[in-house]
Amino acid sequence: MKTKLKIHKWPDKILKKKSKEIENPDQVIADILDQMYVLMKATDGIGLAANQVGLALPLIVVEVQGKIYKLINPKIIKREGFVAFREGCLSFPGIELEIKRNNKICVEALDQKGKPVCFEPEGISAVVFQHEIDHINGVTFIDRVSLWKRLKITPQLNRIKNGKVK
Ligand SMILES: [Zn+2]
Repeated sequence: MKTKLKIHKWPDKILKKKSKEIENPDQVIADILDQMYVLMKATDGIGLAANQVGLALPLIVVEVQGKIYKLINPKIIKREGFVAFREGCLSFPGIELEIKRNNKICVEALDQKGKPVCFEPEGISAVVFQHEIDHINGVTFIDRVSLWKRLKITPQLNRIKNGKVK
């Protein structure tokens, strides 16, 4: 399957947009999730949020530890402990940042068919879900680092802004 979607990179305003809950998920939404998954695989990502493909919708796809998730309205309802990983983001090519996040979370969402699901990812899986759920709330990983760290990556951000990084 091919997809017409493309990755929107920083500083595209869509990345700042907080999406509203989808009340009646339909086939259109299910198809977008499939297309997002295709694009994520094609770009070697392990997670992708709808903002990153230019859509202000609460949709994420994640593939971690051999499991595929295509979720609608994902929410974190419980958080425990802390962990820090070096994270990358398809909207910030070439940038890696160490971010402190919760080590164990509880996620509630609807699956691709609109059925309620909930699960408790830990470690790297928990980190990927937190990164993607941040996206649908208009938050990116540079919002989660100190001003000092952000200043340090300014040259890299400028290269992305000027289209010098693919
Ligand atoms: Zn990201």
